[in-house]
Amino acid sequence: MTPEGEALLCQGADELKITLDDARQAQFAALMTLLQEANTKVNLTALKTETDIILKHFVDSLSCLRGGHLDGAGRVLDLGTGAGFPALPLAIMRPDTIFSPLDSIRKKIDFVRGAAEALGLGNVQPQVGRAETLGRDPAHRDTYDRVVCRAVAALPVLAELALPLLRPGGLLVAQKGPIAEDELEAGRRAATELGGRVTTVDAFALPVLGDARTLVVVEKVSPSPSKYPRREGVPASQPLF
Ligand code: SAM
Repeated sequence: MTPEGEALLCQGADELKITLDDARQAQFAALMTLLQEANTKVNLTALKTETDIILKHFVDSLSCLRGGHLDGAGRVLDLGTGAGFPALPLAIMRPDTIFSPLDSIRKKIDFVRGAAEALGLGNVQPQVGRAETLGRDPAHRDTYDRVVCRAVAALPVLAELALPLLRPGGLLVAQKGPIAEDELEAGRRAATELGGRVTTVDAFALPVLGDARTLVVVEKVSPSPSKYPRREGVPASQPLF
């Protein structure tokens, strides 16, 4: 990472009230190199420049820490992690939390696994699979303290995919851009159907760039009905609301 990139990363983190020590800065620099190298061979992410990766992947992922919603979490599933966002930046910042990046595309998880190993992140347990399948598997259903997800689906779809995976009292922390009132309303109804309740809608500006972002937090207050999630692909193709 260039000196300008390091300064930009620290500025973005500062605006989120996050301090990056030298070891963590080195991990972000190593992740940048791995991502840019891998992206020349496999299409992992549309963001290619150092500035875009720093602000729209690294800093944007760190914004998930706003509000302390991940504090005290033991196990966090990153639903639809892609090239490891937000899971890898969060795992760098929270070594005592186990992060499980999940994606249905094997080549993406292969990258995440290799990157976690190269960065020495012993708290990352990547998985290839679909959220619908995990949500019906007793080894995963009702087990996670948090589900995080960024840029995966509309809120009603996320509610169906994520809430069955959470333990009672667990939180879905969904990173969104500006969220329309009708998506939020549909999300509230889907959350209720799945045993959840929207507790926080935190609108803020992405550090440095100022782009609109929203963290939507849904608490699981009661068990999800056993008919959910529906079979693979159905939550997205036929959203509940
Ligand atoms: N979260 C990453 C980010 O913000 O850079 C990736 C976002 S990408 C647009 C969405 C990812 O979600 C894709 O890699 C896709 O394979 C994955 N995905 C979508 N639906 C999924 C599901 N039901 N189960 C597992 N992965 C899913």
